[in-house]
Formats: sequence, C-alpha cells, structure tokens
Amino acid sequence: MTFVQLRSYRLRSGESLTDEQEVEIAPIELGGQRYIAVPERVAAALSVTRASTGTVFGLRFHVRLHGPCFRCLGDAVLDEDLRLREYQAERPGRAEELTTPYVIDGRLDLSSWARDGLVLALPDKILCRPDCAGLCPVCGADLNREPHEHESEETDSRWAALAELKDRL
Ligand SMILES: [Zn+2]
Ligand SMILES: [Zn+2]
Repeated sequence: MTFVQLRSYRLRSGESLTDEQEVEIAPIELGGQRYIAVPERVAAALSVTRASTGTVFGLRFHVRLHGPCFRCLGDAVLDEDLRLREYQAERPGRAEELTTPYVIDGRLDLSSWARDGLVLALPDKILCRPDCAGLCPVCGADLNREPHEHESEETDSRWAALAELKDRL
C-alpha cells in the first residue's frame, strides 16, 4: 500500500505542488476473474493544491492490466490513462461530500484511491480484442482459433414440435 504524509507538504493557501509517486495497485477481482497491474507499481503524478477552504488532490497515471478475456478466457491486456480528483475541506462539518475517503489520519491512501479510480474506469467486459468470438457454447472450443458451428438436433426437434403444434391449431 502506498501512503503519503500530508503534513510533509506544508502548503499555504494558493500554493500547489506536484510530487512523483510510485503507487502499488492491488489485483482487481471482476466477475470472478483476477486482473493484475503489470508492473504492479505505477509511476503517478500527485498534485496538491491548497485553497482557502480546503485542499484539492489530483492523481495522474497510466496502468496496464493483464487478465482473462471475458469471452474466451485467453489473455487480455487493457491500458488505461487515469486522471483522478479528490477534495478535502478544511472544516467539512457534516458535509460528507467535502471530504475524501482516502485521507485518514493525515495520510493520503494512494493505493486505494488509484485502485478505486481504475475499477470505475474499466469497461463492463474486458476482451482480448473487440470482436472476440468467445467459446463454443456446445463443445467449449475457442471460436477464434477454430470457427465452427454444430448441427443442433435438440433445437431442431423442438422447432419441429412447435411447427407441428402450429399446424394443429
Ligand atoms: Zn477473447
Ligand atoms: Zn463447438
């Protein structure tokens, strides 16, 4: 887990800085599959801007995820460029939207922030390629490598029964 101590920045109102950080990205579970950042530590630019009422944090990084294709279970690689923003009010009171969940006891949790941002940015289905043909529902073979179709007797007989029924109506 990558944390930064916010006290070390000592910014006055109106000041900002950018800090290079290496952020560890934990594996992501999605649809029962596991996706891993390669490398698991990514170079990120953290910006901190102090305003009169609070602090704005920005995080920019590029990450490459490896894991199984949603359709064919082959290797899929996904590149994401992320720009995240969080705000922490000086005196938030009860307004929850004015505090970031990633600041805890004066530390900013970069790993959780980066990982959550990444999960939100992911597509519904991670595919090895946009037109992946997937696995054959009958025999389980990879349709990308062996495109084929089956003569389905079961389906045929059902249709025949239906056609017969229709004739009798
Ligand atoms: Zn695939
Ligand atoms: Zn098949």
